[in-house]
Amino acid sequence: MSIISTDISKAVALLQAEDVVAIPTETVYGLAGNIFSEKAIKCVFETKQRPFFNPLIVHIASVAQLPNIVSYIPEKARLLADAFWPGPLTLVLPKQSIIPDVITAGKDTVAVRVPNHPITLKLLQQLDFPLAAPSANPFGSISPTTAQHVEDYFKHHIKMVLDGGACQRGIESTIIGFEGEAPIIYRLGSTAIEAIERVVGTIEIKNKEDIAPNAPGMLERHYAPSTQTILTDNISEAIKNNTEKRIGVLAFSTGCHHESIAFQIVLSQTKNDQEAASKLYDALHQLDKQNLDLIVAELLPDVGLGKSINDRLRRATVQP
Ligand code: AMP
Ligand code: MG
Repeated sequence: MSIISTDISKAVALLQAEDVVAIPTETVYGLAGNIFSEKAIKCVFETKQRPFFNPLIVHIASVAQLPNIVSYIPEKARLLADAFWPGPLTLVLPKQSIIPDVITAGKDTVAVRVPNHPITLKLLQQLDFPLAAPSANPFGSISPTTAQHVEDYFKHHIKMVLDGGACQRGIESTIIGFEGEAPIIYRLGSTAIEAIERVVGTIEIKNKEDIAPNAPGMLERHYAPSTQTILTDNISEAIKNNTEKRIGVLAFSTGCHHESIAFQIVLSQTKNDQEAASKLYDALHQLDKQNLDLIVAELLPDVGLGKSINDRLRRATVQP
C-alpha cells in the first residue's frame, strides 16, 4: 500500500504523536519531526542515517515566530527575512536556550526558515511546535523532489508522505550565517546570490570548498547517484573518451548525438536556470535507474542558480 497521502489532518496527528512525516516544500521534500520531541528527532536521524554532528533546519510558519527560536536578529537578517520569507533562504542565528542541542549539533546557533509551500504552511499553522525537516533521503543520496521519490526511499521506514506535488524550486535553500553583523553564505541554494546582494550588498561565500578548495575530503560527497558520474563543460569530448560505455547525458540546454548515448535529459531548452534547478534531482533519479555505466553531466554557466546547480553537481560527482 502507498504511504503517499494528501490528508493534512493525518499528518498533524502523526506529528503530534511524535512520529515523523515527509512533507513537501518548495525546495525538496523534508523528513519532518517536532523539534522538541527527542523521539521524533532521533527517528529523523536514524531514518536518514544522518550523522548527529550535522545540524537540522527549523521550519516555522511565519517570521513572527522567529524571536521564539533565535535570541538575536541582526539588521541584515531582518532585511533578508522580510525580502525572502516565505522562501528558500535559511538564516543561521544565535539560538534561544529552549532549542534542543540535538537540533543544532550542540552549536549555540540555529538554522531557521519559513518554507514557501501552501500545504506545509497550512500544516505548520495547525501545529504548536516548529518542525525540523532535513531532506527526505538517505544521507548522501539524491534529494527527493516528488512524493514518489520519498516513497521509493522510505516506504518501509515511515508511515506517511504528505503529497504536495513536484517541488517548484528543486534544490535546497541558500544558507546564510553571520559574523557579527555581516552576512556570509554557508551554502549555495535556491535563492540566487545576485538576488541576495540586491538586498544586503556584496556578500562573501564560505562554502566548504571555498575555505579549502584543494584539501582532499573537504568536498563532501552528497546528492550523489549510485551510477558513476562525471562533470564536463564539453559533453562530446567526454563521450569520445568513453565510447565503450553505455552513457547517460544530463545536458543544460542542448542535447547531443552519439551512438554510445543510451539516455539523455535536457534540463532547459530555453536556458532558464530556475527550470533547470527544478528538474535537476528528478533527472538524476531517472538517469540512475537506467542501468548506465556512466552519467556525463554538463556544467551550467556560473551565474544565478547556475552556481548552485554546479555546486550540487560537483558534490554529486565526488568519488566515494
Ligand atoms: P539540510 O541538510 O538541507 O537540512 O540542511 C542542513 C544544513 O544546514 C546542515 O548540513 C548545515 O550545513 C546547515 N546548518 C544547520 N544548522 C547550522 C548551524 N547552526 N550552523 C551552521 N550551519 C548549520
Ligand atoms: Mg540533504
